Amino acid sequence: MRILQPVRGTQDLLPEAARRHRRITETAREVAALYGFGEIATPIFEFTEVFARPIGETSDIVSKEMYSFVDRGGDEITLRPEYTAGLVRAVLSDGLLQNAPLKFFCHGPMFRYERPQKGRFRQFHQIDVELIGVAQPQADIEVIALGSRILEALGVRHNTVLELNTLGDPESRAAYRDALVTYFSRRLSELSEDSRRRLERNPLRIFDSKEESDRRVSLEAPAFGDYLNAGSRDFFAQVCDGLDLLGIPYRLNPRLVRGLDYYIHTAFEFVTSDLGAQGTVIGGGRYDGLVEMMGGPATPGIGWAAGVERLAMLIPEPAGPPRPIALVPVGPAGERAALRLAEELRDAAVPVDLGYSGNLARRMRRANRIGARAAVLIGDDEIARGVAGLRDLDSGAQSDVPLDELRSRLATLVG
Ligand code: ATP
Ligand code: MG
Repeated sequence: MRILQPVRGTQDLLPEAARRHRRITETAREVAALYGFGEIATPIFEFTEVFARPIGETSDIVSKEMYSFVDRGGDEITLRPEYTAGLVRAVLSDGLLQNAPLKFFCHGPMFRYERPQKGRFRQFHQIDVELIGVAQPQADIEVIALGSRILEALGVRHNTVLELNTLGDPESRAAYRDALVTYFSRRLSELSEDSRRRLERNPLRIFDSKEESDRRVSLEAPAFGDYLNAGSRDFFAQVCDGLDLLGIPYRLNPRLVRGLDYYIHTAFEFVTSDLGAQGTVIGGGRYDGLVEMMGGPATPGIGWAAGVERLAMLIPEPAGPPRPIALVPVGPAGERAALRLAEELRDAAVPVDLGYSGNLARRMRRANRIGARAAVLIGDDEIARGVAGLRDLDSGAQSDVPLDELRSRLATLVG
């Protein structure tokens, strides 16, 4: 029979990869707690409308990447492609806004129908932080500082650069939009088909294109800076000033836009050159219009999401689990004794790998393969003498240990 394969763009997290993921989420959770961000979780699927309008019909996500389906009850459902819209839905349906400001940390799988390649999958994982209800630039600064500190704690901050831009307030954005339409219309023939469509709906999005020709034309486009009104300019200056105050280095990138429709003011990414084209490890920004767009009262918000698979490729290998003790029973009486002893040792928090079958040589080979710290041999002879054979697998030394001393001897060995 044909061996079943995973769906393209999905992958199994084998133990080493799972450890990397856990290290990333646990580090992020701990650092987020230092900033007062508490963990929550929302469902993996939502009604399609939760994502479609907020993210934007012209965004890559909504136009071609969502996993959407009609369920058996006829509801239009989408597997979440990002966290923010679902989280805002939760904030509104659970009536949490009265407690604003809200600070949330979450993580989990996301789903996007993309062309799989290094650092790009169809099921991938994000960690995500959101700060809802604060209009002041302090929120932008703290949320960026939190991202920076997580990267530092993971040991990867030094190979990332924080890129920073402002998209201005809605008024500045509209003025800039007009300027872009004029500019890109003059160079229409050089744009990709996708970007020509973007030009009508949301020209800013052309900057987000991965097509070489679009990128070339984008480079010479008018800069946002020239269209920012005084309020937007001042807001951005305060964000930059706060980052300077905290000694967080950044690089201004006037071409940085976010892939989703709802961003204004601050936009930022932590980017690495170590992962080829998929270099963005954290992307985020301010989304003051989103809560209102989703049916709530006008409420500011800012947040970011990090790609766990991309971070997993950057961090050093996390320490493995503690080395176990291999219990090697010999004969039926030994097997009964070992079964009980294994549980007693686990009561004392000693990790135990119980040999299930095979002759002595085969069980010892397994003990070595799993990296056991020591092997404990129990057969009829040992039981009769009230001892167990203890072999230190590092030194090779072997001795008989009285059963009532075994627990403490093993605890010191693995401790
Ligand atoms: P990109 O420009 O690489 O497509 P994006 O702008 O679509 O990224 P966001 O929506 O901002 O990405 O998601 C935040 C982070 O999630 C990204 O910076 C990246 O690290 C990660 N990410 C996004 N899409 C994928 C994917 N398909 N596979 C793996 N990680 C991803
Ligand atoms: Mg994308």
